[in-house]
Amino acid sequence: MSFSALGLSPSLLKALVNQNYSEPYPIQNEVIPAILKKRDVLGIAKTGSGKTAGYVLPILMNLQGKTVTKNRHVNVLVLVPTRELAMQVSEVFITFSAGLPDRVKTMAVFGGVSINPQMMALQGVNILVATPGRLLELVESKAVHLSEIETLVLDEADKMLNLGFREEMSLIFKLLPKKRQNLLFSATLNDDVTRINQILLQNPIVIKIEQEEDTFDLISQLGYFVCEEKKGPLLRYLIKTNNMQQVLVFADSVYKVDNISDKLRKNGIKAAAIHSKKSQGARTEALKKFKSGEVNVLVATDLISRGIDIQFLPYVINYELPRSPKDYIHRIGRTGRAESPGEAISLISLEEQHHFRIIQKKMGKWVTMIDSDKLDLQGF
Ligand code: AMP
Repeated sequence: MSFSALGLSPSLLKALVNQNYSEPYPIQNEVIPAILKKRDVLGIAKTGSGKTAGYVLPILMNLQGKTVTKNRHVNVLVLVPTRELAMQVSEVFITFSAGLPDRVKTMAVFGGVSINPQMMALQGVNILVATPGRLLELVESKAVHLSEIETLVLDEADKMLNLGFREEMSLIFKLLPKKRQNLLFSATLNDDVTRINQILLQNPIVIKIEQEEDTFDLISQLGYFVCEEKKGPLLRYLIKTNNMQQVLVFADSVYKVDNISDKLRKNGIKAAAIHSKKSQGARTEALKKFKSGEVNVLVATDLISRGIDIQFLPYVINYELPRSPKDYIHRIGRTGRAESPGEAISLISLEEQHHFRIIQKKMGKWVTMIDSDKLDLQGF
């Protein structure tokens, strides 16, 4: 199927060509016509499947001809779990709406930054992408009204529930008009998501994209047995000898993330750290530098990593293993996306060996292991 056969307008088709989207991803083939028909949709798909453009394009189509908003009323509300995802999703809306005949204003709002500029900018906004807590603050201060929302999107609904936004979400649902379109996207369909689906969605079209296997085939996985003290030198050895230009490194704690990136910098490797204790400005800056290639290594905790969308990320390194196999899969899913191959490397200490076996069993794939004792880490 081509994008034009899906019923998108010439200006959106032009924007797709500019973005080098030559043909729709599987989820887009199914989601776009359903949203254009104003149906409710339950989409089970991970980041990397192309779900964002899957809802952005038809929402922009549906908005054409009715983008006039009453003061501080918005047409479309997209709820997301993190600031990073809020920024990314709003960027996709902005990119695809740039050439449309009717002007569409998109804005992202999230906590961790001062609220006043957001309050002032919330004039004539059509599409609001928001994290739940900040949205409620803005509603309370009457900076935005939700009673005329035509379409509600919940993106990464499972993550929003995991992060404890349940209460905020139900408060928000109460503020919405009864008649509206609901689109719910989630990487997994657990009991919590099913409950929300039952409350929210009306006779939805259910779309499930099994992507894991395809993605795994694109990722070559490798593990190194290494003692805890040698993890730093091994990391630097891998980065330097493979001349890695863009690598995302995961560690578990804020302290570890800072520590790893400090040591990388001391060893002449351009690195930045990103975690929840950094200010929003510092996080945005670090991500920007990483995307532009100004820094080669981004060291992150899991919480931050979820929403990060970087095309063609060639390397992911697990400095430490995450506790849950799901998070492991999520981490390595940062690479091997959008049809480009990637490499995921895990540094496994003696204590982590048992846990890594469990992860591999859950994943249904065995990872080739290398003994780092054979490597000459002197000088790294
Ligand atoms: P998402 O799952 O929405 O985070 O999208 C994953 C990545 O795929 C993003 O970097 C998109 O820009 C890219 N993408 C989405 N749809 C297409 C498409 N049809 N063709 C090429 N790239 C796409």
